[in-house]
Amino acid sequence: MVTVEDFKTRDIRINRALALFSRAASEKQYLHIHHSQSSSRNTSLSDIYAWHKKRGFNEIGYHFLVFREDFVLGRSVDKKPASIENHNLGALAVCFVGNFDSELPTAFQEKMLQLILKQWKVAGHVDFTDVFAHRDLDNRKSCPGANLYNLLQKCKNVEK
Ligand SMILES: [Zn+2]
Repeated sequence: MVTVEDFKTRDIRINRALALFSRAASEKQYLHIHHSQSSSRNTSLSDIYAWHKKRGFNEIGYHFLVFREDFVLGRSVDKKPASIENHNLGALAVCFVGNFDSELPTAFQEKMLQLILKQWKVAGHVDFTDVFAHRDLDNRKSCPGANLYNLLQKCKNVEK
């Protein structure tokens, strides 16, 4: 059962991650958006940790992860991400958990996307030419999935 305490803990965690994102946004040059390419309902933080360990990273490659109903820190924002080959320097990497070629982002994930774009702008990025979907920098990838990619384009236009 989910208790009131669980919600409070989650809110504290989300707010802490957003505050970290906001600080990092003013220090980084590029924002990268990914999806996990796995079912949003069956993917945990420890799954992603295990996959990245297997790929030879010493920890989760992304700075932040947006789950169906949660927003958490992956890798310290002070470290370079394992995000997109040859584009990691100066990048802040966010992964939305889900396979958005076949599923839609949740309302929470949509809200988080809007919030991080807003914070990115507030942090001094005058437009969104420095925000990249993974596929923008590597056309062999469909990441972050058609549905999240379309939502990202829409949000960029709205928040502009
Ligand atoms: Zn990706």
